Amino acid sequence: MIDNKSCIGSSSNSSNSLCKNNGKIFCVIGDPVEHSLSPVMHNAVFSSLGLGYRYIAMRVKEHELATTIKMLRERALGFNVTIPHKIRIMDMLDDLDTLCKRVNAVNTVKVDGTRLKGYNTDVYGFIQPLRRRGIELRGKSVMIMGAGGAARAVLIALIDEHVGEVIIASRSVDDNAKAKALYEMAVSNGIECRIVQLEYAKMYSKQSHLIVNATPIGMQGYHGYEDLSILASSDIDSKSIVYDLVYRPMETRLIRNALNANAMVIYGYEMLVEQGAKALDIWLGIDAPRDVMSNAVLRYLHNVGDRHG
Ligand code: NAP
Repeated sequence: MIDNKSCIGSSSNSSNSLCKNNGKIFCVIGDPVEHSLSPVMHNAVFSSLGLGYRYIAMRVKEHELATTIKMLRERALGFNVTIPHKIRIMDMLDDLDTLCKRVNAVNTVKVDGTRLKGYNTDVYGFIQPLRRRGIELRGKSVMIMGAGGAARAVLIALIDEHVGEVIIASRSVDDNAKAKALYEMAVSNGIECRIVQLEYAKMYSKQSHLIVNATPIGMQGYHGYEDLSILASSDIDSKSIVYDLVYRPMETRLIRNALNANAMVIYGYEMLVEQGAKALDIWLGIDAPRDVMSNAVLRYLHNVGDRHG
């Protein structure tokens, strides 16, 4: 269950921070949650804006979810939700934003009095770095590698951008219900869609305007798949944009391969920052300082990278 010892990313006196603001907190709940960068990112904002809030991470096991939600109703101003609670929590909330109903996952909850409203900020988080670069996706061909929760948020963002075609490259095509659900969602929104085996991604990559990695391949700590990439440099056209959702390390093997191919790259930490900024807007109505958030995340990633050699 929750005890202050399980809170990370807070000051060493996390029990004191729980007592500030009449005991009201911000937090992320999940299991595992130890590697979440949200405390680093949000606490950097609170301290730079002189807000007296604290953001902590709480490890919450599946059987603890209901009691945790009951406690957070009383004691939180807002919280993030990560694996494995993103879907199950939907039944425990009073209200759901339209977007999180479409994604079928909640990653942000606002506490309003004692009412809880669920949101999904990954859709906004994904699209914002593309918009900031002025990238027009209408009618374009996009390949998404992976068919999990993040891929679903990506697809919804792409539907709203009116892309022309989506290739979903997934490791288990024949009986992958998740890939089929994505296919149905795309075609029912008038987008041409094709599901292909992940190993055939390289046959479609050069014709894709945007390539998104929504698998954990290349992620530090994903044993057997660290420093790997689904696509080699020779599979990437210099006119393509390569967007890796993996943010640890900042420069994944896929990103390095894309840079070698002279393609434009978008880093996973950019999505992380934008989804966090959207959560701060929902909770506090503030336009969060992205530079403060990015600097905090990158400083942390570089330090961890240094420690891991
Ligand atoms: P998820 O729901 O578990 O989905 C992962 C997807 O990757 C599934 O389609 C899975 O295939 C596939 N996959 C996993 N391991 C694979 C392997 N070894 N080979 C081939 N395919 C593999 O996870 P998620 O929430 O979508 O997250 C995916 C990645 O995006 C993670 O690295 C996560 O950290 C990152 N992410 C980043 C942000 C950000 O803000 N930058 C936000 C969300 C997620 P099966 O369906 O066959 O298992």
